[in-house]
Amino acid sequence: MIENLVIIGSGPAGHTAAIYAARAQLDPLMFEGLMAGGVAAGGQLTTTTHIENFPGFPEGILGLDLMMRMRQQSINAGTRVETKTVESVDLSKKPFEISVDGYKVLAKAVIIATGATAKRLGIVGEEQFWQKGISACAVCDGGLPVFRNKVLAVIGGGDTACEEALYLTRFASKVLLFVRRDVLRASKAMQEKVLKHAKVDVVWKTHVVEALGDKMLQKIKTRHADTGKELTVDIGGLFYAIGHRPNTEFLKGQIDVDEDGYIMTRPGTTQTNIKGVFACGDVQDKRYRQAVSAAGSGCMAALDADKYLKENE
Ligand code: FAD
Ligand code: NDP
Repeated sequence: MIENLVIIGSGPAGHTAAIYAARAQLDPLMFEGLMAGGVAAGGQLTTTTHIENFPGFPEGILGLDLMMRMRQQSINAGTRVETKTVESVDLSKKPFEISVDGYKVLAKAVIIATGATAKRLGIVGEEQFWQKGISACAVCDGGLPVFRNKVLAVIGGGDTACEEALYLTRFASKVLLFVRRDVLRASKAMQEKVLKHAKVDVVWKTHVVEALGDKMLQKIKTRHADTGKELTVDIGGLFYAIGHRPNTEFLKGQIDVDEDGYIMTRPGTTQTNIKGVFACGDVQDKRYRQAVSAAGSGCMAALDADKYLKENE
């Protein structure tokens, strides 16, 4: 049997693609993953608490609840969802071959929506205070009341770290940007904005080595990269911005990715370099990384796949 459309991944991108594809009667099969990339089926939103910026939920909604609703909507529309992780794919022949649990599924079209995983430091106290003062997304969590008018810390020296530090100045009394070297990796324009912002202090050559607190994060311990001198700093929140890892390892070089492993799509579409293979969500987006932008690109992928399947009947 040859499947019409297989969707790999189950975050907002995968489920939006599934809802559109099922409603277009493409009879999609979704592999939602089983702790793939270290994240439960449903994706990154299952690792957080309240989502306050997804349209349609004026009181906010728990990340897990939002993803359960999306999953139910996919199933209601007619998607078959299997809780399995795709191990590898062979995109060199048609139909495409997808390997899961020791068997192969053949598909005329594939949508890849496997997301990305925020890198963590693995410091002492990180597990205890994750989402209790430590976050990997300032745009998502920075506006929460718990972070208002406090000294907030960001770790990283790239564009994301600078952008998040600037974003947090709207809520924080002060933002400390901890950079491990004596230079920023961010673009010159971004560097200038950060360096001249009155509310941002860049703390050069400094590692954050421990998170401390009671029920919530209250302090961090830092260590100077050269001298090894340690300091304890009072802090209201800690934001990691040390990069993401796209979940593309299972593709094993079969599709064009950029230097960081993100799938490359033709601008304005979800088309990859292989006809019939589409990518949506964070696995192809290192810029916006939001649930609603992932969902939007999931819709695009289903429409692109529908058009492809019709043209290649
Ligand atoms: P993901 O959500 O990453 O989901 C991908 C899914 O694919 C995962 O379930 C994964 O297990 C599965 N998968 C991976 N590999 C395979 C495989 N080989 N086979 C089968 N399945 C596989 N955004 C907001 O808009 N608002 C917020 O408040 C917000 N808060 C956040 C809080 C945190 C802590 C984090 C980490 C992110 C937050 N985001 C938020 C960002 C948002 O979660 C992401 O932008 C969004 O989830 C990306 O959706 P996605 O569908 O591309 O992928
Ligand atoms: P990057 O990989 O560019 O930067 C990661 C940063 O984290 C680096 O400064 C790195 O330090 C630091 N880092 C990594 N590991 C550690 C660690 N263990 N301890 C302390 N610091 C650490 O990731 P970004 O998410 O910033 O950017 C990804 C891509 O997206 C880039 O191409 C960027 O240009 C782009 N982007 C563009 C934006 C824009 O144009 N507005 C906005 C956001 C992202 P070091 O420099 O020492 O390696």
